[in-house]
Amino acid sequence: MSTTILLQATQRSKTGRAALAYVERFGWAGLPVHSVKDGLCTCGKPDCSNPGKHPLTRNGVRDASKDPATIARWWHRWPWANVGIATGAVSGFFVLDIDGEQGAESLHDMEHEHGALPASVEQLTGGLGRHILFRQPDFTVANKVWLAPGIDIRGDGGYIVAAPSGHISGRAYNWELSSRPGEVEIADAPEWVLAMLRPARDAGQRKPSGEWQRIACTDAPEGERNERLAKITGHLLRKYVDPFLTSELVQAWNAARCLPPLSVTEVEKILESLAAKELRRRGCKIGEQ
Ligand SMILES: [Zn+2]
Repeated sequence: MSTTILLQATQRSKTGRAALAYVERFGWAGLPVHSVKDGLCTCGKPDCSNPGKHPLTRNGVRDASKDPATIARWWHRWPWANVGIATGAVSGFFVLDIDGEQGAESLHDMEHEHGALPASVEQLTGGLGRHILFRQPDFTVANKVWLAPGIDIRGDGGYIVAAPSGHISGRAYNWELSSRPGEVEIADAPEWVLAMLRPARDAGQRKPSGEWQRIACTDAPEGERNERLAKITGHLLRKYVDPFLTSELVQAWNAARCLPPLSVTEVEKILESLAAKELRRRGCKIGEQ
């Protein structure tokens, strides 16, 4: 069948029309997902665990397409399908998925602590949830379940069901009146959100390196010597550095940085007590396995 005919057929389906618009106007990657009919998922399983939300194509979100002809072929076949949109780099945005009252409460707490989210494209899910879209940052955003109670992240490899799809509740997904795509810009996520999503490798290098610089690379006056020696010693032992090597290193650090240095015996005491603690920790771990 010609693409023109398929496209015409797609235009007759409400969700097909939306899917085409998402692909053509916004460059998002779409996919057909199951819908809800008479209160049941169209997959026909009465106990479907994800009604109206799971993909119709074999490879699911990996099949998501930006090709209008492909969209038309799918909606010609399944004109009743719900619209899925792949999230992450492929569509240029990730989603803060806020579920129900619990999610709203978590978001309220986070905004109270860090500041309000900027206005962005947003939709109401049929289930009293919200999807807030944010522009893809310069790193990969992974899917994350339970970022906070009731809040998930949909990033690379994930998808959302989009308006005007039907929800199991009987309501339809719809874009917030003042937050429709094409009418408002997808905002950049604020730094505090990005900080929660940066891969651990990046995050791990950032904070602790500054922290270790303060602990290890500056002189330790009286009142800080024991605490800082203990932090360094504990860290080395925790990283499985040999206790004899650890002893040499912290004795040298004591001589170089402590003002005035603790006695050799005092440093040994700290080491012994932390080594015993570390051994207990390892013992516990083995015991648990
Ligand atoms: Zn189903």
